[in-house]
Amino acid sequence: MDITLVPGFNPGPYTGAGNNTYVISGEMPTLLDAATGEAAHLTALAGVLGSSSLAQVLVTHAHPDHVDGCDPIAERWPDAVFRKLPWPEQDRLQSVECVPIADEDRVAAGDGVLRVVHTPGHAPDHLCFLEENTGTLFSADLVVAGSSVVIPASRGGSLAQYLASLRRVLALGPARMLPAHGRAIDDPAAILNQYLEHRQLREDQIVAALRAGDRLPDAIVDRLYEGLDPRLKRMALESVVAHLMKLREEGRTRSDSEQTEWELA
Ligand SMILES: [Zn+2]
Repeated sequence: MDITLVPGFNPGPYTGAGNNTYVISGEMPTLLDAATGEAAHLTALAGVLGSSSLAQVLVTHAHPDHVDGCDPIAERWPDAVFRKLPWPEQDRLQSVECVPIADEDRVAAGDGVLRVVHTPGHAPDHLCFLEENTGTLFSADLVVAGSSVVIPASRGGSLAQYLASLRRVLALGPARMLPAHGRAIDDPAAILNQYLEHRQLREDQIVAALRAGDRLPDAIVDRLYEGLDPRLKRMALESVVAHLMKLREEGRTRSDSEQTEWELA
């Protein structure tokens, strides 16, 4: 599989150095993720495509740093077909019509085939794409080397689903992962296990914070994330609430109906 990384040129507090998008060259020139439509991204994309046209864009999920580029890309490459797993309330923010794809579909890309792997948790529509001959997994926002992934509890995130997705990908045994943020991952099992351990540690810390008398997610964030960049506080809150909700699903916490105050069940 002939894969070229094309950076999204959209650095920021939530995107790190910016998004990675990938061109798969061949019979079916394919772009993995649309990034945010920066002029530099479109120029770089045109450079990699050269004389071939763009046949399709596979979108991993409807977060803005993955889909905002869809409309500008469609404008420049009007024959490109866009495919993603539907998330209706988010998808209508783009004018591009996406052809629906689903878990375990096989999609032709480049000179090969990608297996669609639905991996909800970070977002309900989150997909990874596995090239089975080489074990290459386009892993989107499943993991980021040297960092962690936000589970936005108030916007379709689910920690229980996320943990199941990490375990599912671990069981698939990919040889390498090409993420939407950060460097390529040559030892997927190690990072997937680290992530599972990290979430367990966080859960233990949150249970300890509740036991110590913290009631508000805000107080738990202040206890757990010392020296947090204030711009990231909202996301840290989301992560803590995601844990609290998972624990509630398991009958281990309860909250008032507004989810402002929490305690151990
Ligand atoms: Zn995302």
